[in-house]
Amino acid sequence: MVADFLKRVARHAAALLTVGTRLRRVAGKDWALVLRYHRVTDEPVPLAVTVREFAAQVRFLRARCRLVTAGEVAASVAAGEPLLPRSVAITFDDGYEDNFTEALPVLQRYAAQATFFLTAGWIGTGKMLWWDKLHDYIRQAAELGARPQDYERLPRPVAAVLARADLRTRATVARFEGDLVAALRELDLSPEELDDRVEHIAASLGAEEARDELYRPMSWDQVRQLRAAGMEIGSHTMTHARLPIVPVERAFEELEQSRKTIGRELGQPVSLLAYPAGEHSRDAIDLVTEAGYEGAYTTASGPVRAGDDPFRLRRIGVWTGGYRGAFGLFSPSVFGLQISRLARQAAQGQAKGARARSPQKRGQVRFGRSPLRAFEAKRTCPLFRSQGEGPAMRLVARWRPSP
Ligand SMILES: [Zn+2]
Repeated sequence: MVADFLKRVARHAAALLTVGTRLRRVAGKDWALVLRYHRVTDEPVPLAVTVREFAAQVRFLRARCRLVTAGEVAASVAAGEPLLPRSVAITFDDGYEDNFTEALPVLQRYAAQATFFLTAGWIGTGKMLWWDKLHDYIRQAAELGARPQDYERLPRPVAAVLARADLRTRATVARFEGDLVAALRELDLSPEELDDRVEHIAASLGAEEARDELYRPMSWDQVRQLRAAGMEIGSHTMTHARLPIVPVERAFEELEQSRKTIGRELGQPVSLLAYPAGEHSRDAIDLVTEAGYEGAYTTASGPVRAGDDPFRLRRIGVWTGGYRGAFGLFSPSVFGLQISRLARQAAQGQAKGARARSPQKRGQVRFGRSPLRAFEAKRTCPLFRSQGEGPAMRLVARWRPSP
């Protein structure tokens, strides 16, 4: 206990002493940081940052950085122009309703712009995305103390996870959920097939209908209000399809249709994309350019630098609970220190020339000798090791790899 407290104090003190210089150095000349959020809500749901923490983060960024948009960053890179000093952009993936109800008021309070990448075919449907349904089914099973039944007909990797299900503690439930998500992703399924498998898993877990009120998308009217409030809108495909996995025709349709749908609903075209789950390939990028996009963001962790490929732009994932100071509360200076360290580290990795490292190796992030190291190592989440995500995600994530 005392050791933990002392560590937090050391981290907080180091952050207070260094954050200004580090942020200046990271979000510096020819570099920009693009932050990646999903949800802002106080509800206990995956992928969320609390309202209070988000407000503190935006206030911190507004005071310390030059807030720009992801579109401006992409346009500068595409034009071969230098990036403005201390540039930071805020982005949201998927299109959850709390982006409008919770995030927008905070952004407006601090006169900040953000970019919202929409899963266009999901907007306005009131439906749930597969990973949220899975999360809710597992919650129900854990509450009931249920054991999975009749899972033998499910694909082998999924059945294997269900066979060894342990829903006794919060930690084992989280591990079970992470393993199930990983097993489902291994199968290279389309969004429809994923929905189908998740319903089979629900039956196996004895779960009832999922509680959809916590997981709704925005309506198109809310999206129009976001746009009218000066926010930037981008595409995240129609159905959150994995572009390198689905057939080429489907991938192109996802890209083209989402552009057209958003353009029609907003009355103006969109030209920016965020790859679902960050997944892209050379062929997928060809389709993205053919569909008329001018830039695309991945989930690879790191800063955007002048000279980067405008269709492989990096971002820094932001999660709740990863930036606590000495008294266990959110600390803006620890937040600043963390994101700047992540960016600097990724940039150094890039500069060394992408040494071929396995995803497992990449999970073992090294921070050198510093009082922060123990804290950071503790935040490493094994769930992310096989997902090919960047260190930001492993470092602070509470839940699962980014959708
Ligand atoms: Zn997504």
